[in-house]
This record gives sequence, C-alpha cells and structure tokens, in this order.
Amino acid sequence: MAPVPFEAQMNGDGQRTCGAAALNMIYKSMGIVIPQQAVWRVISLPDAQTGRFARTYRLAFDAILRGVHAIAFKALDPIQAVQTVLAAGSSVIMNHRLQEDTGDGHFTVALSANDNSIEFHDPQFGPSQKRSTVLMRSLWQPKFDNCEISGNFLIALAPIGVPHKCSACGVSSPDSVTCPACNVSFALQPASALGCVNTMCARRLWEAVLCPYCDAVFPLGA
Ligand SMILES: [Zn+2]
Ligand SMILES: [Zn+2]
Repeated sequence: MAPVPFEAQMNGDGQRTCGAAALNMIYKSMGIVIPQQAVWRVISLPDAQTGRFARTYRLAFDAILRGVHAIAFKALDPIQAVQTVLAAGSSVIMNHRLQEDTGDGHFTVALSANDNSIEFHDPQFGPSQKRSTVLMRSLWQPKFDNCEISGNFLIALAPIGVPHKCSACGVSSPDSVTCPACNVSFALQPASALGCVNTMCARRLWEAVLCPYCDAVFPLGA
C-alpha cells in the first residue's frame, strides 16, 4: 500500500468534514485528487436543523463513484478487522467517537495496528496519532444520548477487487450482494476485508454490512 498522505478537515460553517478528509487521504494514496468540499457534498446529508452531517454509508457511496471499491461493515471485533484489512494491503476508515467525553462521530484513517495500539491519521488531531486498542474499543462504542455512531463500523477500501476464498473453510465470496431493502446489487470488495462470508466460519469479521445506496444494515446470506 502506498504511503497515506495526511489531510486536515476544513470544518467550515460548523460542519465537521472529517469523513471527506479521511476519504481524500486514501484517494490521494491511490493517485485520485478531489477537492475536499466536493467529497463533502456527496457524503453529507442535511439534518433536522440547518447543518449537514456525514453519513457512513455515503462514504462508501462516494468511493464507488470514484471507481474505488468500498465496503462498509459492522465488525465483530473492529481491532481484528483493521489488522486484517491492512495486512491485505487495503485501506480502512474507522468510524468512532471523537473522544471519550462526547457522542460526536468521527472518521480516521488507520495506518497500522497491533494488539496494543492503533496508529492513524486523524483529520482533526493530526497525522500519525496513536491510541491504545483499549481506548479505541471504547471510542467505537456508542455512548450518550443522540450518539452519532452505531458502533464498530469501518469502511474498507481498495483500488481493485480480488476474488477471495476463505483459507479456513474454503467458501468463496460472491462477486456482489443484493441489498434486501433497496434491491440494488453492489460489489463485495475488498472481499478479504470481511474475512469470510460463511456465517459459521471463525474467520468471519463482520456482524452486518451497510448498503452504500440506502443505508440498510443487513447480514450476509445464510
Ligand atoms: Zn471461512
Ligand atoms: Zn440498499
């Protein structure tokens, strides 16, 4: 994987554009250059008041628009999922709370991870931040009323899709899945990010996947 250049979020008009900055860092590592504001307009939707907020499924949608494979999913164990995605040479955006005392959602770009700590580019706090996996697990859990995260979500991204067959159980990942809510099919790539599509397999890393078109959260097939 190419080095991931850092990009700070712009935070104009009280809008927190961490999701757009996080995507842009990964796009740049793939040679794709887009103004942060342009990405922000795609990934954010109006809220009930006057602001706009990034939506996790829209990050995957934006990546697909740019010709980049992306799969957003709720991980059984987000630390293990990040390790697996990075080891496969793919990129990963983490969706967790900004810090311990807030329910505000945040997007960061993982650079490396072991069982003790994760290093990541944080669009708000700066490049190459390091946090313990204990703290990251806590930040990945929803807390407080109106918390902006639903817990253990991440987005795996890769420039090209590669067929994936689980080395433990031998089950191959399907090329695509169809969302049960909106009936649209989307590529299940990077497939290795999910570990294994077999519900019964110990290599499985997902609890549910997120439709990049309608925000439905659903488990993979039987
Ligand atoms: Zn398997
Ligand atoms: Zn859908």
